[in-house]
Amino acid sequence: MGDERVKTEALKVINLFQVLPKLVVFDLDYTIWPFYCECRSKREMPSLYPHVKGILYALKDKGIDIAVASRSPTPDIAKTFLDKLGIHSMFVTQEIFSSWTHKTEHFQRIHRSTRIPYTDMLFFDDEDRNIKAINNMGATSILVENGVNQQAFQQGLMEFSQKSKASDKAGSSGKNKHK
Ligand SMILES: [Mg+2]
Repeated sequence: MGDERVKTEALKVINLFQVLPKLVVFDLDYTIWPFYCECRSKREMPSLYPHVKGILYALKDKGIDIAVASRSPTPDIAKTFLDKLGIHSMFVTQEIFSSWTHKTEHFQRIHRSTRIPYTDMLFFDDEDRNIKAINNMGATSILVENGVNQQAFQQGLMEFSQKSKASDKAGSSGKNKHK
């Protein structure tokens, strides 16, 4: 499937949901591309998982911001690859640094620079411990097995929308209690 075709499909999926995230955050290694960039050379030409570019374009088209949260120890290689793939400038912020925390520090920085609440964020990553940590911060976090694809994307939007509805209900019943 070409990028345009994936973008059209992804837009259809986005249009199924009334409640949407304000920011979608992506891990890099084994989430948007099928390798660890620390094991590669800057001179190589990288490639993304097949659906990634179309999904990124669809999000931009709908005015939804995108960001990167990666614990890669080689941010220079990661940034060179994002540039070579022509997607470097699409991200509102890129947090790429190694850390002992499970990306909580990455998300604190993303929140500081974007001012977007964690509950308005959707996050894709291939590591369970990161998913658990960021879910605990309030962002809807989706574990991907073979990188971000249409299926994972739809699942992410669905979980985000269900979580928002649940917290809306909790909020309004809380309000009623005070009446
Ligand atoms: Mg990864």
